[in-house]
Amino acid sequence: SEQHLIRSEKLSVIGQLAAGVAHEIRNPLTALKGFTQLLHRRTDVQNRQYFEMMLTELERINYIVGEFMLLSKPNQWQQMNRCDIGLLLDDIIPIMQSQAIITNIAIMVDKSPDMPIVLCDANQIKQVLVNLMKNAIEAMPDGGELHVHMKKDHQGFVVIDIIDQGIGIPQHVIDRLGEPFYTTKDAGTGLGLTVCFKIIQSHGGTLIFTSEPNVGTTATIRLPA
Ligand code: ADP
Ligand code: MG
Repeated sequence: SEQHLIRSEKLSVIGQLAAGVAHEIRNPLTALKGFTQLLHRRTDVQNRQYFEMMLTELERINYIVGEFMLLSKPNQWQQMNRCDIGLLLDDIIPIMQSQAIITNIAIMVDKSPDMPIVLCDANQIKQVLVNLMKNAIEAMPDGGELHVHMKKDHQGFVVIDIIDQGIGIPQHVIDRLGEPFYTTKDAGTGLGLTVCFKIIQSHGGTLIFTSEPNVGTTATIRLPA
């Protein structure tokens, strides 16, 4: 059965406080990483593996903190500019292609030529596209096709569909999409979609998921032109 969902604000007050704390973690974390790298270089072979593990874990903390910083007050930091979303997509595709090829995934892009200009923060929109495409790739461990369709709808909105042929999303997971730290993956952070919803909302747009287990998922972004 097909499942639809329109998600609105989900980040709680506690979530926003945590995002503030993330800022305070950044600086000491950078120092920790730097000294760990230094010790990694100076240590003997026997201890090197421990420093490598420490660096991997520090990198993970850094990634989570980075996502959290995006969550805190994105409106205030936004650098709104007139941009062609089609060109943003062109920047991202080669990066995603290098990841997709590892698991036998072909990325197909279909852009209509008359794309309107959107007032947006280019880096934030790129982040959304990367997060959604990453999820699509991770949903197809045995390969498949990832389609990205970009068009203008009747009301002049830019509509971007990210369509995978992956495992799909069961209803109980759909209900929780965007909830901070909600993940079904062993090494997931559960922050990717939290960031996506937040950014799209702050642009006055919507993000909708349509999914059918074992058939695939479509993530649809709508942005005002
Ligand atoms: P993470 O990718 O770190 O798990 P996300 O916030 O990006 O965190 O996604 C949350 C959860 O939503 C995932 O763990 C997964 O269960 C589900 N999900 C998101 N996108 C897809 C997709 N395209 N196909 C299947 N499941 C998905
Ligand atoms: Mg993700």
